[in-house]
Amino acid sequence: MPRLPLSPIRTGGKAARISNQRLDVDGLSFEVHRSERRKTLQITVERSGELSIVAPLQAEHHQLIDFVQEKLVWIHTKIEEKSRLQQRAPIKEFVDGEGFLYLGKSYRLRLVDEQLVDLSLKNGRFCLRKMSAHRGREIFISWYTRRAQGWFEKQVAEQANRMGVEVEEVKVQDLGYRWGSFGTAGRVHFHWKAVLLPPRIAQYIVVHELAHGHHPDHSAGFWIKVEQHLPDWRWRKSWLAENGIQVEGI
Ligand SMILES: [Zn+2]
Repeated sequence: MPRLPLSPIRTGGKAARISNQRLDVDGLSFEVHRSERRKTLQITVERSGELSIVAPLQAEHHQLIDFVQEKLVWIHTKIEEKSRLQQRAPIKEFVDGEGFLYLGKSYRLRLVDEQLVDLSLKNGRFCLRKMSAHRGREIFISWYTRRAQGWFEKQVAEQANRMGVEVEEVKVQDLGYRWGSFGTAGRVHFHWKAVLLPPRIAQYIVVHELAHGHHPDHSAGFWIKVEQHLPDWRWRKSWLAENGIQVEGI
Protein backbone atom coordinates (compact mmCIF):
# COMPACT_ATOMS: atom_id res chain seq x y z
CA MET A 1 0.00 0.00 0.00
CA PRO A 2 1.39 3.44 -0.88
CA ARG A 3 2.83 5.56 1.86
CA LEU A 4 0.16 7.80 3.31
CA PRO A 5 0.77 11.51 3.58
CA LEU A 6 1.80 12.66 7.02
CA SER A 7 -0.34 15.34 8.58
CA PRO A 8 0.54 17.40 11.65
CA ILE A 9 -0.37 15.76 14.92
CA ARG A 10 -3.18 17.55 16.67
CA THR A 11 -2.37 18.49 20.19
CA GLY A 12 -5.89 19.24 21.41
CA GLY A 13 -5.38 19.94 25.11
CA LYS A 14 -8.82 18.75 26.12
CA ALA A 15 -8.00 15.08 26.50
CA ALA A 16 -8.61 13.76 29.98
CA ARG A 17 -5.59 13.15 32.12
CA ILE A 18 -5.13 9.46 32.49
CA SER A 19 -2.38 7.74 34.34
CA ASN A 20 -1.79 4.04 34.24
CA GLN A 21 -0.88 1.67 36.98
CA ARG A 22 -1.59 -1.86 38.04
CA LEU A 23 -3.66 -3.06 40.93
CA ASP A 24 -3.36 -6.53 42.39
CA VAL A 25 -6.17 -7.92 44.50
CA ASP A 26 -6.72 -11.51 45.52
CA GLY A 27 -4.44 -12.92 42.84
CA LEU A 28 -6.15 -10.83 40.16
CA SER A 29 -4.19 -8.16 38.33
CA PHE A 30 -5.95 -5.08 36.94
CA GLU A 31 -4.75 -2.45 34.53
CA VAL A 32 -5.89 0.87 36.04
CA HIS A 33 -6.95 3.77 33.83
CA ARG A 34 -7.62 7.07 35.53
CA SER A 35 -9.65 9.79 33.90
CA GLU A 36 -10.96 13.10 35.14
CA ARG A 37 -14.08 12.59 33.04
CA ARG A 38 -14.88 9.46 34.97
CA LYS A 39 -17.32 9.76 37.88
CA THR A 40 -17.65 6.12 38.88
CA LEU A 41 -15.52 2.99 38.96
CA GLN A 42 -15.88 0.37 36.28
CA ILE A 43 -14.32 -3.04 35.85
CA THR A 44 -13.96 -4.72 32.46
CA VAL A 45 -13.14 -8.35 31.80
CA GLU A 46 -11.60 -8.65 28.35
CA ARG A 47 -12.31 -11.68 26.21
CA SER A 48 -8.73 -12.76 26.75
CA GLY A 49 -9.49 -12.74 30.48
CA GLU A 50 -7.46 -9.56 31.05
CA LEU A 51 -8.86 -7.22 33.66
CA SER A 52 -9.01 -3.46 33.69
CA ILE A 53 -10.54 -0.85 35.93
CA VAL A 54 -11.45 2.72 35.00
CA ALA A 55 -11.44 5.16 37.89
CA PRO A 56 -11.96 8.87 38.55
CA LEU A 57 -8.71 10.78 38.99
CA GLN A 58 -9.26 11.34 42.71
CA ALA A 59 -10.30 7.79 43.64
CA GLU A 60 -8.03 6.48 46.34
CA HIS A 61 -6.13 3.23 46.27
CA HIS A 62 -8.20 1.65 49.06
CA GLN A 63 -11.43 2.61 47.26
CA LEU A 64 -10.28 0.64 44.22
CA ILE A 65 -9.45 -2.36 46.41
CA ASP A 66 -12.84 -2.17 48.18
CA PHE A 67 -14.62 -1.92 44.84
CA VAL A 68 -12.79 -4.95 43.44
CA GLN A 69 -13.49 -6.96 46.59
CA GLU A 70 -17.20 -6.13 46.41
CA LYS A 71 -17.23 -7.32 42.80
CA LEU A 72 -15.13 -10.46 43.21
CA VAL A 73 -18.00 -12.88 42.60
CA TRP A 74 -19.09 -10.96 39.50
CA ILE A 75 -15.48 -10.82 38.20
CA HIS A 76 -14.92 -14.56 38.65
CA THR A 77 -18.27 -15.33 37.03
CA LYS A 78 -17.29 -13.18 34.03
CA ILE A 79 -13.87 -14.79 33.71
CA GLU A 80 -15.46 -18.24 33.69
CA GLU A 81 -18.13 -17.12 31.24
CA LYS A 82 -15.51 -15.79 28.82
CA SER A 83 -13.43 -18.94 28.88
CA ARG A 84 -16.56 -21.08 28.46
CA LEU A 85 -17.72 -18.98 25.52
CA GLN A 86 -14.31 -19.21 23.92
CA GLN A 87 -14.50 -22.97 24.10
CA ARG A 88 -17.90 -23.31 22.53
CA ALA A 89 -17.78 -20.98 19.57
CA PRO A 90 -20.85 -21.83 17.48
CA ILE A 91 -19.99 -24.06 14.57
CA LYS A 92 -21.54 -23.05 11.27
CA GLU A 93 -23.22 -25.70 9.15
CA PHE A 94 -23.67 -23.71 5.94
CA VAL A 95 -27.33 -24.55 5.56
CA ASP A 96 -30.28 -22.49 4.30
CA GLY A 97 -31.44 -19.80 6.71
CA GLU A 98 -28.29 -19.74 8.83
CA GLY A 99 -27.22 -16.21 9.82
CA PHE A 100 -23.79 -14.77 8.99
CA LEU A 101 -22.50 -11.46 10.24
CA TYR A 102 -21.01 -8.72 8.11
CA LEU A 103 -20.27 -5.25 9.53
CA GLY A 104 -22.53 -5.84 12.49
CA LYS A 105 -25.55 -7.11 10.56
CA SER A 106 -26.71 -10.66 10.25
CA TYR A 107 -27.59 -11.93 6.77
CA ARG A 108 -29.33 -15.20 6.07
CA LEU A 109 -27.68 -17.80 3.92
CA ARG A 110 -29.31 -19.21 0.82
CA LEU A 111 -27.85 -22.15 -1.06
CA VAL A 112 -28.17 -21.61 -4.79
CA ASP A 113 -27.80 -24.01 -7.70
CA GLU A 114 -26.24 -21.68 -10.20
CA GLN A 115 -23.90 -18.81 -9.53
CA LEU A 116 -20.68 -17.70 -11.16
CA VAL A 117 -18.86 -17.18 -7.87
CA ASP A 118 -18.82 -19.38 -4.79
CA LEU A 119 -20.31 -16.71 -2.56
CA SER A 120 -22.10 -13.42 -3.04
CA LEU A 121 -24.04 -10.98 -0.90
CA LYS A 122 -27.06 -9.69 -2.73
CA ASN A 123 -30.51 -8.42 -1.78
CA GLY A 124 -29.66 -8.85 1.88
CA ARG A 125 -28.75 -12.54 1.56
CA PHE A 126 -25.55 -14.49 1.39
CA CYS A 127 -25.82 -16.81 -1.61
CA LEU A 128 -23.53 -19.82 -1.50
CA ARG A 129 -23.21 -22.17 -4.44
CA LYS A 130 -24.67 -25.51 -3.36
CA MET A 131 -21.87 -27.56 -4.88
CA SER A 132 -19.33 -25.49 -2.90
CA ALA A 133 -21.14 -25.70 0.44
CA HIS A 134 -18.75 -28.37 1.75
CA ARG A 135 -16.00 -25.73 1.53
CA GLY A 136 -18.27 -23.14 3.18
CA ARG A 137 -15.91 -22.15 5.95
CA GLU A 138 -12.94 -21.61 3.67
CA ILE A 139 -15.12 -19.67 1.20
CA PHE A 140 -16.58 -17.41 3.87
CA ILE A 141 -13.17 -16.70 5.36
CA SER A 142 -11.77 -15.71 2.00
CA TRP A 143 -14.84 -13.52 1.30
CA TYR A 144 -14.51 -11.82 4.70
CA THR A 145 -10.77 -11.38 4.19
CA ARG A 146 -11.27 -9.63 0.84
CA ARG A 147 -14.00 -7.37 2.18
CA ALA A 148 -11.99 -6.60 5.31
CA GLN A 149 -8.96 -5.69 3.20
CA GLY A 150 -10.92 -3.02 1.32
CA TRP A 151 -12.77 -1.75 4.38
CA PHE A 152 -9.70 -1.46 6.60
CA GLU A 153 -7.54 0.07 3.88
CA LYS A 154 -10.10 2.84 3.49
CA GLN A 155 -10.46 3.39 7.23
CA VAL A 156 -6.71 3.40 7.79
CA ALA A 157 -6.17 5.87 4.94
CA GLU A 158 -8.62 8.30 6.58
CA GLN A 159 -7.55 7.85 10.18
CA ALA A 160 -3.79 7.63 9.61
CA ASN A 161 -3.92 11.03 7.98
CA ARG A 162 -5.83 12.57 10.90
CA MET A 163 -3.66 10.86 13.47
CA GLY A 164 -0.36 11.66 11.83
CA VAL A 165 0.74 8.04 11.51
CA GLU A 166 2.68 6.70 8.56
CA VAL A 167 1.36 3.39 7.30
CA GLU A 168 3.27 1.24 4.84
CA GLU A 169 0.94 -1.72 4.62
CA VAL A 170 -2.51 -2.85 5.70
CA LYS A 171 -2.89 -6.59 5.87
CA VAL A 172 -5.85 -8.75 6.84
CA GLN A 173 -5.25 -12.24 8.16
CA ASP A 174 -5.99 -14.61 11.01
CA LEU A 175 -4.47 -13.02 14.11
CA GLY A 176 -5.65 -15.59 16.62
CA TYR A 177 -7.07 -13.81 19.65
CA ARG A 178 -5.99 -10.34 18.55
CA TRP A 179 -8.20 -7.98 16.58
CA GLY A 180 -5.29 -6.02 15.22
CA SER A 181 -1.62 -5.22 15.56
CA PHE A 182 0.70 -2.38 14.69
CA GLY A 183 4.06 -3.73 13.67
CA THR A 184 7.39 -2.14 12.97
CA ALA A 185 7.82 -0.11 9.79
CA GLY A 186 4.16 0.92 9.74
CA ARG A 187 2.59 -2.46 9.07
CA VAL A 188 -0.95 -2.60 10.37
CA HIS A 189 -2.66 -5.96 10.59
CA PHE A 190 -6.29 -6.75 11.24
CA HIS A 191 -8.05 -10.01 11.91
CA TRP A 192 -10.52 -10.86 9.13
CA LYS A 193 -13.13 -11.40 11.85
CA ALA A 194 -13.03 -7.68 12.64
CA VAL A 195 -15.18 -7.08 9.53
CA LEU A 196 -18.01 -8.98 11.25
CA LEU A 197 -18.17 -6.30 13.95
CA PRO A 198 -20.37 -3.19 13.78
CA PRO A 199 -18.48 -0.42 11.91
CA ARG A 200 -18.12 1.80 14.96
CA ILE A 201 -16.46 -1.01 16.89
CA ALA A 202 -14.16 -1.85 13.98
CA GLN A 203 -13.29 1.86 13.80
CA TYR A 204 -12.18 1.72 17.42
CA ILE A 205 -9.81 -1.11 16.48
CA VAL A 206 -8.38 1.06 13.69
CA VAL A 207 -7.82 4.06 15.97
CA HIS A 208 -6.41 1.79 18.68
CA GLU A 209 -3.85 0.21 16.33
CA LEU A 210 -2.88 3.53 14.76
CA ALA A 211 -2.38 5.08 18.21
CA HIS A 212 0.31 2.42 18.61
CA GLY A 213 2.09 4.29 15.81
CA HIS A 214 2.80 6.91 18.49
CA HIS A 215 2.97 4.72 21.60
CA PRO A 216 3.88 1.03 21.32
CA ASP A 217 2.45 0.20 24.77
CA HIS A 218 -0.86 0.94 26.52
CA SER A 219 0.61 3.84 28.48
CA ALA A 220 -1.25 6.95 29.58
CA GLY A 221 -0.03 8.73 26.44
CA PHE A 222 -1.48 5.98 24.31
CA TRP A 223 -5.00 6.36 25.75
CA ILE A 224 -4.77 10.13 25.48
CA LYS A 225 -4.00 9.69 21.79
CA VAL A 226 -6.99 7.36 21.38
CA GLU A 227 -9.22 9.81 23.23
CA GLN A 228 -8.11 12.74 21.05
CA HIS A 229 -9.32 10.96 17.95
CA LEU A 230 -12.18 8.96 19.39
CA PRO A 231 -13.56 10.73 22.48
CA ASP A 232 -16.15 8.00 23.06
CA TRP A 233 -13.67 5.13 22.80
CA ARG A 234 -14.65 3.72 26.22
CA TRP A 235 -18.05 2.32 25.29
CA ARG A 236 -16.64 0.92 22.08
CA LYS A 237 -13.84 -0.82 23.97
CA SER A 238 -16.30 -2.21 26.54
CA TRP A 239 -18.66 -3.33 23.80
CA LEU A 240 -15.84 -5.20 22.14
CA ALA A 241 -14.82 -6.82 25.42
CA GLU A 242 -18.42 -7.83 26.16
CA ASN A 243 -19.70 -8.82 22.73
CA GLY A 244 -16.66 -9.41 20.55
CA ILE A 245 -16.81 -13.02 21.63
CA GLN A 246 -20.00 -13.56 19.63
CA VAL A 247 -18.26 -13.14 16.31
CA GLU A 248 -15.78 -15.79 17.34
CA GLY A 249 -17.18 -18.74 15.45
CA ILE A 250 -17.59 -19.31 11.77
ZN1 LIG B 1 -3.13 -2.22 21.84
